[in-house]
Amino acid sequence: MPELTDLSVIRALCEKYDFALSKGFGQNFIINPGLPPKIVDASGVDRRYGVIEIGPGIGVLTRELAKRAAKVVSIEVDERLPPLLAETMAGVDNFKLVLQDVLKVDLKALIAEEFPGMPVAVCANLPYYITSPIVMKLLGDRLPIESLTVMVQKEAADRLAAAPGTRASSAISCAVSYYATSKMMFTAAPGSFYPAPKVTSAVVRMEIRPQPAVQVEDEEGYFALVRAAFGQRRKTAANAIASGLGMPKDAVTAAIEAAGFDARIRPEALTLEDFAKIQQALARRIPGHDHIPRADAHIHQVVPDAQGIVNGGRIRRFGGKAVFKAEYIAPGGKRQFAGQHAGIAQLAAGVATAMAV
Ligand code: SAM
Repeated sequence: MPELTDLSVIRALCEKYDFALSKGFGQNFIINPGLPPKIVDASGVDRRYGVIEIGPGIGVLTRELAKRAAKVVSIEVDERLPPLLAETMAGVDNFKLVLQDVLKVDLKALIAEEFPGMPVAVCANLPYYITSPIVMKLLGDRLPIESLTVMVQKEAADRLAAAPGTRASSAISCAVSYYATSKMMFTAAPGSFYPAPKVTSAVVRMEIRPQPAVQVEDEEGYFALVRAAFGQRRKTAANAIASGLGMPKDAVTAAIEAAGFDARIRPEALTLEDFAKIQQALARRIPGHDHIPRADAHIHQVVPDAQGIVNGGRIRRFGGKAVFKAEYIAPGGKRQFAGQHAGIAQLAAGVATAMAV
């Protein structure tokens, strides 16, 4: 097989299969021959490993992975790619293609079926447009994997690798750090890809922790708090939490102070432990606070086929009245407000009463 990093080989393949690279699928293929071995080196994968790759494209990283790992399962969404991959991966018998959107794959089941008894790692040059949802799925699903090594846009890499409590940190830095330790490995210039993206890229390696970095009683509520704190970039943590979770500002400020912080503290100055302390202080200060995260569970009780929750549950105040609002994704992908659902409205009324302080 000729070198897949060779631009004339890529062009010939595209022509043969009438394939045009799709911007919409984030298709920027590696053309720097030094990169695939460097990415696999960074992943620490060897012959013992089962590897999940997301987005094989025409298989340039896939082939390097298959050379060095026990088995590679690559998940690709673009239905035009299998014929090209059949040619570029011909004769590679430890490779399997799963043609599906990675966000819809049951990865736990896939790992159990494809990699019994093997250590498992994820290694990929990710489609940049869905970096955060993919990383959050890989971490949040608590998969039996050892590590994730991903090529992403440099700015995203900075956030994935930033330690909470430092300037570059954000909600995703906190989520990564909760589940994993992360390390910036190296950067790659736009010219390493075809077509060249407008941005520099970088590889980050995340090693899954055996236990989350902090112990919290209510994980969903914890992440709702972290997301709210970072929800409005230039606001103080107190303002952002109050408006993001729909809580009284003075109660949030008091809770932040009770947890030992200045009321004007910014979210990026807070560590994972700090957020845990604030969560506890909030629960003590605001009756019914612990109902908020559970709104997510309520929705699943009442609408068992809800596909996902948007924004979690929120209590909003309109004209002195506390009103419950939670948006969920109904089957078929339509967004609906929980208040529009009678069953949820009843549950919501209970939550709202508890919150009406
Ligand atoms: N691995 C190849 C390389 O390094 O040259 C291609 C990487 S390219 C940046 C991203 C790949 O992810 C493309 O093949 C694209 O079609 C695929 N992709 C995009 N969205 C996806 C999704 N939701 N699920 C699975 N694959 C996806």
